[in-house]
Amino acid sequence: MIRTYKAVQVSQPGEFSLVELPIRETGPGQVRIRVEACGVCHSDVATVEGQFPGLTFPRVPGHEVAGRIEKVGPGVSRWKIGQRVGVGFFGGQDGECEPCQRGDFVNCTHPVVTGITADGGYAEVMIAEARALASIPDELTSAEAAPLLCAGITTFNALRKAGLRAGALVAIQGVGGLGHLGVQFARRMGFKTVALNRGKEREQIATDVGAHVYIDSADDVVSDLQRMGGADAILATAPKGDAIAALMGGLAVHGKLLVVAVPNDPMPINPFPIVFGERSIIGSLTGKAIDNQDTLDFSVLQNVRPMIETFPLERAAEAYAKMVAGKARFRMVLTMVADASR
Ligand SMILES: [Zn+2]
Ligand SMILES: [Zn+2]
Repeated sequence: MIRTYKAVQVSQPGEFSLVELPIRETGPGQVRIRVEACGVCHSDVATVEGQFPGLTFPRVPGHEVAGRIEKVGPGVSRWKIGQRVGVGFFGGQDGECEPCQRGDFVNCTHPVVTGITADGGYAEVMIAEARALASIPDELTSAEAAPLLCAGITTFNALRKAGLRAGALVAIQGVGGLGHLGVQFARRMGFKTVALNRGKEREQIATDVGAHVYIDSADDVVSDLQRMGGADAILATAPKGDAIAALMGGLAVHGKLLVVAVPNDPMPINPFPIVFGERSIIGSLTGKAIDNQDTLDFSVLQNVRPMIETFPLERAAEAYAKMVAGKARFRMVLTMVADASR
């Protein structure tokens, strides 16, 4: 008898279906995970709408995957059956391209990308590459760990790679799925943390999660930041090109605009503050397996937690629609087992 598992797959652009798929054997270097929770990320749109180059359907989306290893493939020695692990957007390097030879796995030119080149975590079972795994600390539930594996690592890694001093002034643009974690990381890394968001509605949440200062982005953000001495870094998490570009003026000398949002519109950058004051714009893409490990461990150490709303796997389409509509507060997480939140 063929054993099967439930999965929510995209069979054509924009169309989810709940299906039973046959359980596959693990290949060399792979593990099979019994998924407990999977976050719903805005980047899932690239899978669902078929925007990612080379994407083929059917495909199971989901790259914030937390679960338990139920099978290890040939050649896997570090991971054991029963261990709780996570995998994010980065699903494994090829180990052969030039970036890989230089240890820069996240910029691998032929990577495994979870939920894009291989089936992801909107499912009860997923095959993952062992080299892409992080171990989930006992202090985190699977539902809490899931968003840290993409939204978490994205903001954590961008901030920690930016070469900032303790006490630096750091602004987080957007208090949403990424930003509410960015504020927590910035505060707990020892930065003076400013949250930027339109309106007053998110001020309380922003200060609750650690912002020292909240600025309504409808106000003159650039002047407000300059009055504080200028930001040493601004982490742009809200995908609006013109809004991100406008923040350049709020940077201090040598300030860095850290871009993790991917706007569809261009960013019209004023070159003046780049040259006069040697400011820079830096892109940051997720991180590799050890960066995910560091994100999870730091979150335990400094008590960073995502604000989540859970949905059972069967209601994936509903959770996805809520995320796309910008109504998630702040991360939607699909759960496959009853105790994913315990
Ligand atoms: Zn993501
Ligand atoms: Zn490579």
